[in-house]
Amino acid sequence: MGKNTRWASFTSSQGFEIQFPVSTVEGDNSGPHLVITAGLHGCEYSGIAAAIELYKYLNPAKLKGKIDIVTVASVAAFYEKSPFVNPADKKNPNRTFPGREDGSYTEAQVYFLLNEIIDGCDFYLDLHCGDMIELIEPFAIYHTGAGEEIDTKSSELAFYYGLPSVIPTASDGVWPDRGTSYAAAAELGIPGAIVEAGGNGMIEQQAVDIHLQGLLNVLRLLGMIKGRPYAPDKSVLYKDFKWLYAPVQGIWHQELPLGSALEPGDNLGRIEDLFGTQLITLTSPVAGKLVFTTSAAAMTEGDIVLGIAMS
Ligand SMILES: [Zn+2]
Repeated sequence: MGKNTRWASFTSSQGFEIQFPVSTVEGDNSGPHLVITAGLHGCEYSGIAAAIELYKYLNPAKLKGKIDIVTVASVAAFYEKSPFVNPADKKNPNRTFPGREDGSYTEAQVYFLLNEIIDGCDFYLDLHCGDMIELIEPFAIYHTGAGEEIDTKSSELAFYYGLPSVIPTASDGVWPDRGTSYAAAAELGIPGAIVEAGGNGMIEQQAVDIHLQGLLNVLRLLGMIKGRPYAPDKSVLYKDFKWLYAPVQGIWHQELPLGSALEPGDNLGRIEDLFGTQLITLTSPVAGKLVFTTSAAAMTEGDIVLGIAMS
């Protein structure tokens, strides 16, 4: 019973030293075991700040159950200010689950995170936001295909976080969620979701507050703190996720603002060469809502440009 912080340290058989800052709140009364991770992408600061604020806020005397909070799951990427990938092997940790103990740095990192910290808990939330060069219209995603009971509980976590858009994903969906934290947890039988608010390499207090409200509402839903959860009646359920990538390199000029409702064929923007000649226009292949965009204008071929919640 009480609160404590520690560094969970692991050495892989390949000699990689992996450390996670873990803040734990153990309630005076029994209840579920929730694991929260933030900073799996090391430059997603609003999620990290919310995880730290949640730990400071929680009172063990008023908590049922136990919460382990990994405040920065990719410490090396955090200190190197490395968006998307770990500096050691340039791998995206959120495409590398379930990882390998004897693999590269990131493979070992996510292996220890999944097997030593997440596995065995009852519920899992992974706090994200737009990366160093991304802007987000807040959304939650949850994995489907892990069985009806897990899928239903995952969708409840996603909905009760209270974000405007909720997107189910699958390993063979339009946006395959293979290799992600929440899909790996769901496949271990742990309901979970990724929740996204904030971005652009900044701590945005408004986004931190959105995360905190979502976290507290999920704690109410799980009966871990007092109070009735508010109903997630403002969240819209979408069908899948569609990401668009730059077909050529150049300068990206976005046409439509974040949050725009899209119809197939809508003009999203254009890529010009470095003399200002238009190379391509990007049009929406689907109907839906523009939920994230890359804020950096520089595009190389294959870079992520934007993401659409598909209606
Ligand atoms: Zn992320």
